[in-house]
Amino acid sequence: MDNWVLKGPQTLINEQSSVNITSPTQVKVKVSHLLLTDFDAQLFTGAEEPAYPKTIGRAAVGIVTEVGENCYGVEKNARVYFEPTRPCGHCLACLSGKTRECTSVLQAGKDFDGFLRDFVVCEYSEVAPLPDSVDDIHALCIETIGIAENIYDKLNLQAGQRVAVVGADFSGNIIAQVLQYHKVIPIIIDNNPAHLEKAKKCGMYYSFTADDDLNANILNATGGHLCDAAVYSGNSRLPLSLSTRLVGQGKTVVISSIASVTAPMDARDILTKNLTVFGVSNAYDYTDAVINMIIHGAVTTDVFEKEILTEYDPVALFKERCSPASNVKKSKMTVLKMIL
Ligand SMILES: [Zn+2]
Repeated sequence: MDNWVLKGPQTLINEQSSVNITSPTQVKVKVSHLLLTDFDAQLFTGAEEPAYPKTIGRAAVGIVTEVGENCYGVEKNARVYFEPTRPCGHCLACLSGKTRECTSVLQAGKDFDGFLRDFVVCEYSEVAPLPDSVDDIHALCIETIGIAENIYDKLNLQAGQRVAVVGADFSGNIIAQVLQYHKVIPIIIDNNPAHLEKAKKCGMYYSFTADDDLNANILNATGGHLCDAAVYSGNSRLPLSLSTRLVGQGKTVVISSIASVTAPMDARDILTKNLTVFGVSNAYDYTDAVINMIIHGAVTTDVFEKEILTEYDPVALFKERCSPASNVKKSKMTVLKMIL
């Protein structure tokens, strides 16, 4: 049984292994689809350093093949989504029972074994059953949508407010779609014409390139007020200072990424406009809410190009994804269809 284990930077080895249920609250799941993420790519290069060895793979769905006798709400043959994050169990929030506020959320592939393997045995609470109306492709986007929803919750926005979304790659586009679902108006900023085109296809009215006209365009789109908030998508190669430049006095800027971001930040706007800046890097405890959002059509994945691979070499795929010319790849969904 395949199990792709990261032993060190760029050292990803297929260790054949088998797993079995050892407790009545565990399920055994055949992984069926896995979405390659930038987080996986950073783990592969060593930019994110796991406690080696760790099985790689953060976003996956599967089919339950075995259920322990004390598992609830999960049945054999059910399609499930693997929770990509878990509370640490040790921080102050966790110890006081508020796991949703955990300050050091554990991540699949880094802190515990990820899902690029044939079978996973885990607690039944670590998988979420998927209704028929949530297809595998949408299910693979659950964490990205959850991060967008987490950002929306934290920004405390009202209908009609205007939010700059800097970077309209895969995650930036989904953030904008979720804002739009909540009747907040996204203003997309990206220099990639394909990204801007996708934003338009999703019904986004304002999308601009980061050129000399940007300030004037933003003033026009906001009635002269600048944006009510800005979200910087971590995969974007755009300067972080765009997000602080485009918001008004006393507003908030969110930096969003599941992978690490090394962009430098200019403090001038933060100081002169008295801005609040924070990061959102996970969607722990958002899975049920997101499944409900998908059922209600909050997000479409139709606009994204997809490659669904049944034969693949993970090492080659990660090397390709990490290469400097991989910008095209990043707006595409690369899905491994894992067949025994
Ligand atoms: Zn914790």
